[in-house]
Amino acid sequence: MGINVALDGPSGAGKSTIAKKIAARMKYVYVDTGALYRSIAYYVISKGAQPGDKEAVVPLLPEINVSLAYVDGAQHVFLNDEDVSDKIRTPEISMGASAVSAIPEVREFLFGLQRDIAAKNDIIMDGRDIGTVVLPDADVKIFLTASAEERARRRFKELQEKGDPSTYEEVLADINQRDYNDTHREIAPLRKADDAIEVDSTEMGLDEVVEHIAGIIEEKAGKKRPPREKKERKPLLDFSGIEPVKRGKKLNPFRIFFYNLLRYIVLFCFKIKFNLKFEGKENVPKDGSNIFASNHRRMLDPVLIELQCRVPNSFMAKEELFQGNKIFVWLIKKFGAFPVQRGKGDTGALNLAIEKLEMGRNLVIFPEGTRSKDGTVGKGKTGVALIAAVAQCPVIPVGINYYGKAKIRQKIVVRYGKPISPEQLRITTPGPKELKLLRTTIMDSIKELVH
Ligand code: C5P
Repeated sequence: MGINVALDGPSGAGKSTIAKKIAARMKYVYVDTGALYRSIAYYVISKGAQPGDKEAVVPLLPEINVSLAYVDGAQHVFLNDEDVSDKIRTPEISMGASAVSAIPEVREFLFGLQRDIAAKNDIIMDGRDIGTVVLPDADVKIFLTASAEERARRRFKELQEKGDPSTYEEVLADINQRDYNDTHREIAPLRKADDAIEVDSTEMGLDEVVEHIAGIIEEKAGKKRPPREKKERKPLLDFSGIEPVKRGKKLNPFRIFFYNLLRYIVLFCFKIKFNLKFEGKENVPKDGSNIFASNHRRMLDPVLIELQCRVPNSFMAKEELFQGNKIFVWLIKKFGAFPVQRGKGDTGALNLAIEKLEMGRNLVIFPEGTRSKDGTVGKGKTGVALIAAVAQCPVIPVGINYYGKAKIRQKIVVRYGKPISPEQLRITTPGPKELKLLRTTIMDSIKELVH
């Protein structure tokens, strides 16, 4: 038997809204017993009978089959295989449900179904007689109330939002009538179970009530079932074993020479093909071990960034690129690309990135993870923050801007922003909050350069 929570109270006290929230939070099944009574009223009315007319209602019961099913976590009520979940929410059916619920045979009819559900699941069941009759041994019993005026006000607002024409006075009269019916009926009248905890929500906000009731349940249910061992939260990535970049290594001067020769040739060709401008060149450090974090529009981007760097760059490229054409793979590797598994917390790639930075190369990262089709800069992945925080190297934001669609001499402006210093990037714990904050700092500086 699971944990059973009984939530009783008068109409409009907010039971169903609150029970739904608690069920979602605590992974319980929410059982709205009012919906069962409503379905019976719906059937009776559809057959032209009066819901309060016992002689007419009882013979109809054998024709009725009510069941509850859960679709995407929401309770749906089926009446003879028809989903009536929405149809039973009218004022006429509310009043009808109140009337049929006073008939002992109807209560008897629904009793087994309610107990059955409770026996098989952790449930929170709302109704009028759950703590007193249906589940007298429930682990937790709550009796939720609010003044009639406050309940009428809430229900009135709800009905108005649905476009129902009822006036506040009508809704209040309705609530008073249903309160009277529910508390004065002979069978299973609405009353607080002796061992139920009363919660008066008249002056409480929804969240406040949810917190309060969830607290009561946690405490009481926790005594019955020791809380599941809390799994230790896996750190975002295992930082141990990864050391910040030791700076100062110089690359082989011959390599640097040939790299720069090639760079000037490519720069020259690019200047012919494109109307290419660079802004903020003074922000590009002369030596290596820097991180360039850029927006990403086209395959050309890594080359464009590199055109002002006197030290060769390495760049993280999505793993899928390494599964394509062999010549292409060879080429991107030559240009310093190495694979990263996106969205998987790839520690291997992180280590490799640090290694490249230690070798004195720069590292180019496209924090958005993919190319932006419309030119807007996305919010980026936290990976960039993680690398920056671990490596403790300056991060230079880059904004690559393509203007117009000209095939010849298209205007391209590459803007390099002021480096973000390692001091600005230092975080004490690699928690998700800190990393998100760092990512925002980096992404905001990129956004400033894209216009
Ligand atoms: O909770 P809800 O307003 O949907 O319930 C409709 C009617 O069904 C109530 O007015 C009440 O008379 C009746 N009911 C009941 N016992 C329950 C649940 C609802 O008598 N456990």
